[in-house]
Amino acid sequence: MSIVVQKYGGTSVADAARISNVARRIVETFDGGQQVCAVVSARGDTTDELTRLAREVSPRPPRREMDMLLSAGERISCALVAMAVERLGRPAVSFTGSQAGIVTDTEHGNAEILEVRAHRVQEALECGQIVLVAGFQGVSTENQVTTLGRGGSDTSAVALAHALGAKICEIYTDVDGVYTANPSVVAGARRIPEVTFDEMIELTAAGAEVLALRSVVLAQRHQLPLRVCSSFTRAEGTLVRAGPMAAPDRVCGVAYTTDEVVLTINGMADRSALRCVSDALLAAGVSLQHIAREPEGALSLILTEEETLRAEDALSPLQAAMQLSYSPDTSTSRVAVVGRAVHTDEKVLQAMCGALERKKVPARWVDASPSCLSCLVPRQRVEAVVCAFHDALRLGIAPALG
Ligand code: ADP
Ligand code: ASP
Ligand code: MG
Repeated sequence: MSIVVQKYGGTSVADAARISNVARRIVETFDGGQQVCAVVSARGDTTDELTRLAREVSPRPPRREMDMLLSAGERISCALVAMAVERLGRPAVSFTGSQAGIVTDTEHGNAEILEVRAHRVQEALECGQIVLVAGFQGVSTENQVTTLGRGGSDTSAVALAHALGAKICEIYTDVDGVYTANPSVVAGARRIPEVTFDEMIELTAAGAEVLALRSVVLAQRHQLPLRVCSSFTRAEGTLVRAGPMAAPDRVCGVAYTTDEVVLTINGMADRSALRCVSDALLAAGVSLQHIAREPEGALSLILTEEETLRAEDALSPLQAAMQLSYSPDTSTSRVAVVGRAVHTDEKVLQAMCGALERKKVPARWVDASPSCLSCLVPRQRVEAVVCAFHDALRLGIAPALG
């Protein structure tokens, strides 16, 4: 009997009616003769609400306790889905990440999956049960509850799909696939029928939250295709797959971030200061993504909010000794165009520059990666820039076949 691993996102299980809808879809697959393991996210805005509540109680809550708190969101929804499946007359059992055998490292809040010991899930499937797993969480090698970072249920699903030997992992969400830009921002965005792992990694790294970056990296490592589709429709969605490589003239989409911080550190005229700062940041687990084109003696990094706190903790002891100063800037967003063509076709850069000029938006260019070109723009203009890039590159128009 073949096995299907499905993942249902937060919007798809937001209320009782949607939970019943998800249960019906799961049962349909099960009745079609397949074993079903479904990974479920926390309902609606639960994770955000719990995070807000924690901050009201403590401005910098201990990371272990945050994981205890946030993991509860997924635990609630997967038990509810199990109840809804049982109500439809099919046997179901729900597991926490720990019970499902998801073993992670000890990095609270952003843990990485090291191994999946799926025997308990496997046994339940073999007994004819539908298995629901709480996404976004695991148990660390030190036996603590951990969470996998925002969007982490996608990663749980991919890891389980691989461990259980599924041929594909189905990601059900509130859009019917991966689009050329966030469809809730760009009205003319177009669904992309197929993207390669490489393209999807660039899109998610640049902020397309439809999949979590780590889930795509993991899927690529295991060569496990993903299908992204809507939990509300029957549309075919988007297939995320291994080669063949995308065409060299392909521009795949536009993505953006609104939660990054640009941390500028001044006072590093000499190499030893630069080394000292880099060592301190790396030791604190801060990734060093340099922004090009800073004046000499300054270094700008693009960081998550969480990394910024860690960077500030690492830099504050150096401040007086080395006459460093640093300032976090949250008024900027990064907009990226993704596709192999960004470095092979100069028209892409020209179109982006033209769009920025027409919109009169000042921009700073960021270190490029092989198929991504990105710039920093004022945060309040980010959506306008995304639309302008999408328009200038004519991404809403499907490329001609052949
Ligand atoms: P889930 O809760 O199902 O995991 P997410 O909110 O994490 O869903 O991801 C789905 C959302 O991603 C969509 O509602 C859409 O607004 C956003 N999104 C951003 N970029 C894209 C894109 N390129 N294609 C599709 N959706 C995108
Ligand atoms: N509930 C978590 C989040 O909101 C994980 C997930 O949805 O995948 O980020
Ligand atoms: Mg998500």
